[in-house]
Amino acid sequence: MGEEGKKKERSGWAKLDEAKITAAYDFCSGYIDFLTAAKTEREAVEQISKAALDKGFKTMDKIDELQPGEKIIMTSKNKVAALVIMGTQPLEEGFNLVVSHIDTPRLDLKARPLYEADGMALLKTHYYGGIKKYQWPAMPLALHGVIIKKDGQVKHVLVGEKADDPVFTIADLLPHLAKDQMEKKMSEAVNAESLNALVGTRPQVQREEDVIKAFVMNLLQDRYGIEEDDLVSAELQLVPAYPAREVGMDRSMVGSFGQDDRVCAYTALQAALEVDAPARTVICLFVDKEEIGSAGNTGLKSLMIENMVAEIMHKAGKNEYYSLRQALSSSHALSADVNAAVDPNYPDVFEKMNCSFMSQGVVLTKYTGSRGKSDSNDANPEFIAKIRQLFDEAGVIWQVGELGKVDIGGGGTVSKYLAHYGMEVVDCGVALLSMHSPFEVASKLDVYMAFLAYKAFMQKFSPRMAASKPATEKRGDEPWPKSTPVSPKWSERLAEQRK
Ligand code: MN
Ligand code: MN
Repeated sequence: MGEEGKKKERSGWAKLDEAKITAAYDFCSGYIDFLTAAKTEREAVEQISKAALDKGFKTMDKIDELQPGEKIIMTSKNKVAALVIMGTQPLEEGFNLVVSHIDTPRLDLKARPLYEADGMALLKTHYYGGIKKYQWPAMPLALHGVIIKKDGQVKHVLVGEKADDPVFTIADLLPHLAKDQMEKKMSEAVNAESLNALVGTRPQVQREEDVIKAFVMNLLQDRYGIEEDDLVSAELQLVPAYPAREVGMDRSMVGSFGQDDRVCAYTALQAALEVDAPARTVICLFVDKEEIGSAGNTGLKSLMIENMVAEIMHKAGKNEYYSLRQALSSSHALSADVNAAVDPNYPDVFEKMNCSFMSQGVVLTKYTGSRGKSDSNDANPEFIAKIRQLFDEAGVIWQVGELGKVDIGGGGTVSKYLAHYGMEVVDCGVALLSMHSPFEVASKLDVYMAFLAYKAFMQKFSPRMAASKPATEKRGDEPWPKSTPVSPKWSERLAEQRK
């Protein structure tokens, strides 16, 4: 792989002074705490709500009349959150939206998870999102989630995060007996139905059947007051049991489970907390279910945004259907999601002129999709031009990124569901190594730049930007010159270069 045609970029770090570098490191210590505390979408919503309420955001029921500058926190089903900062401009002129997702690939427990085999009790799982199944055995796992009893009582479950908590694990096959397994394709080497986690070996002695399972069930009953049937109405997830950590001798990176897409969620959250009296109304939205196609009533394929905007407009006394349509179609959005950083261990899948690199800043991704941009939102260049202007003026280090080589795979984000309303939208987020793995890696510089980028967009973006020149100055349809060199300018430039 060469880098023909592209001069070697200076590291983003070299473009920052000491104060900015310190600011990036400081910012990421808060980020590391967030990653460790918010491993599920419900926990993320709790963290987001707490941070917003602490900063003076109010829930809709506490607001009598919407005024410019008003700060609102909205949540839905405990798995979606939105921070809204009211602007001075009419709502029909649109919002500045930043949308990230707070769900992450992991192992969910099945509705009837607990069983016993060969002297052990185990939990059956069903993976959520695009995981490489071989990455999940042989590591410590923690159990997070909720169990809702028939009478509506909510039991919060969190086992495996404290230093002296027990953890769970999925046993892997020893190499000595893995001859057949090792010859399988990687996608088949670990079967989804063998991702069963160990939860116990001690039996309940007074019973004859299911004795080990009964011991575990008794522990659950003591602790949470639940019966086995209560697991039918539960949402329980197995996630890596370790905290987020700094990576590298220079501590310049963050390693953690769940950075897709909590890196964008955290940076957008911090940006929204700092926005003050914007001209356009800001919506910083955190959604669920992106990793499984944005389906369901907490995913962006639903009418969530429409309902949310309708609620804001209703509160502002604008109940006309046409105003709602105008507000949505005049909005501008950053789809805040991650991209893949070029990995020197796997150079063959990247096209280095167009892929994104670690520590080169926040990534603008014009389109995603697969094959011939199938299923992608392809951002309009008129909008990208404005974003370039905005980021450059705000001192944001940014780069472009396409997800790997053409025809080698692909992916998608929520951008197409936003574009559905007619609003302008482009993907903008952080480049990761090991994306979708139990330990994803990001550069602290890129994390910090995402924060600066979202803050500039929320606070300052205006559709009137980059409009100092008429949109179509020249059509470029004058005849192409017949001989070369034709332009004195060009000869001058050549002479200049030869000096
Ligand atoms: Mn994502
Ligand atoms: Mn993802």
